[in-house]
Amino acid sequence: MNKRNWEFRETFFVLTYKLFLNGEFVDSSTKETYEIRNPANGSLVDTVARGTPEDARAAVDFAYDAFKRERQGSSAPPINISRILQVASDLVRQNETELATTMTLEQGKTIAESKGEIRFFAHTLEYYAGLKARGSQVNISDPSKLAVVEKEPVGVVAGIVPWNNPILLMGAKLASALAAGNSIVIKPASTTPLSTLKVGELFVKAGLPKGLLNFVTGSGETVGEELVTNPKTRKVSFTGDTATGKRIMQLASSNLKRVTLELGGSNPIIVADDADIDAAVNATLNGRFRNCGQGCMCVKRTYVFEKIAPIFVEKLKSKASAIVLGDGMKPETTMGPVHSKPQLEKVSRQVSDTIEKGANLVLGGGAPSSPELSKGFFYLPTLVTDVDQTSKLVSEECFGPALPIITVDSMDDAIEQANSSIYGLGASVWTKDLARAKKAARELEAGTVLVNSLYGAGGWEIEVPMGGFKQSGVGREYGIEGLESYTETKTTIYGS
Ligand code: NAD
Repeated sequence: MNKRNWEFRETFFVLTYKLFLNGEFVDSSTKETYEIRNPANGSLVDTVARGTPEDARAAVDFAYDAFKRERQGSSAPPINISRILQVASDLVRQNETELATTMTLEQGKTIAESKGEIRFFAHTLEYYAGLKARGSQVNISDPSKLAVVEKEPVGVVAGIVPWNNPILLMGAKLASALAAGNSIVIKPASTTPLSTLKVGELFVKAGLPKGLLNFVTGSGETVGEELVTNPKTRKVSFTGDTATGKRIMQLASSNLKRVTLELGGSNPIIVADDADIDAAVNATLNGRFRNCGQGCMCVKRTYVFEKIAPIFVEKLKSKASAIVLGDGMKPETTMGPVHSKPQLEKVSRQVSDTIEKGANLVLGGGAPSSPELSKGFFYLPTLVTDVDQTSKLVSEECFGPALPIITVDSMDDAIEQANSSIYGLGASVWTKDLARAKKAARELEAGTVLVNSLYGAGGWEIEVPMGGFKQSGVGREYGIEGLESYTETKTTIYGS
């Protein structure tokens, strides 16, 4: 298996990562490649094949043939997908350091965060290795007949993944699609394909039959749109921006493909005046600044009861000031760079707009001054108070290390403001009053509500469904619902 071309570039040898089609690493149809650069310092990490719509079509054809072959049971011996997922999980664990290092170099997050993501992926594979979709036998009015409800695989799945958690977000799609008996073509984000391609190699070693898993690297507009419009693709599972999700839903309607859309979020955290303030501060800190604030489930707006706002802000400021920015490969770094220049510019614009609308800058508000960080896309941990609800840090999703803090005078006020967003992915409430907690959990418009519970480390759990209300998405991933979203329901009625 020759995954790599060695070639001379700049002053050192680099590897060329290829497309993973039908169990082999191959060049793109044009043989073109492009560079992946480290967001912490701009250095060249590696080069990767630039996939084309033709490559995407080939991937779907391979996936289609593999699906038919496995479905017809023509493999000898028949595959045991549970066993393969379990072996792949073990291999992912054994290769944690290499996968995590590659991810930190291409994405920017700290090596500890990358290792956590790889472990989450291994756990996801293991979980789906042991899970089966639920069929049933149903008693119908005519007792002479037997009704059986089965879950069948959908067919070829297109999985489209963003750059913020490249492996973890791919993991739910890959593991549940394969476990449910489908084949899948994955398109990683164009800026974070390297760690993903390494996973292909591990699945070859785990014995996955060729064609069931394929990776096509390249842009969303070319490779992504071909996957979404290809008539042989039966389902699209997309994670990314809400605007892209809307476009994908339109494109997928051409032949009524099944869609799961995991989209943006502007998750509120509510801190009541009876909350354990230190625990709420830690949750906010971890929830906002983890992965440099680039997580769908990150805390993005804070609503604090007036009475405790000064002490909450003081404690949060003290902890956020202690965050160490730097290259994610350095052990002392606790927050890496923003992933890309456009993302950095977006966060800067959102903070400037919020300050122009009268907010008070408590911490950060720009790039760090250290010359050592000048080549990376770094942004200081930023806190603003006295925030106008119309400012961009509140009305838009902020995918970076900046947090608006808004004071509220009651739980009703907090819930109303928290719900005044187009998004409904996650929400969190901190209070010791059970009645208040229950009210908030019931009224908050979000797919996941955390009550006195941490965002961040394991920001969600593999065993429970995850997804959004409102414009945060359609459908659910993870848990049994996630597995079954990769199935069709078939009813068979047997006569006597
Ligand atoms: P993005 O929408 O720009 O890109 C996501 C993926 O879609 C990439 O692979 C991209 O190449 C591809 N793509 C872009 N345009 C496409 C098109 N027209 N057709 C097909 N594919 C296309 O998003 P991003 O900036 O990479 O990711 C950040 C966003 O993802 C944030 O909004 C974040 O909240 C969201 N997100 C959501 C979840 C969730 O589970 N709800 C999880 C993580 C990230």
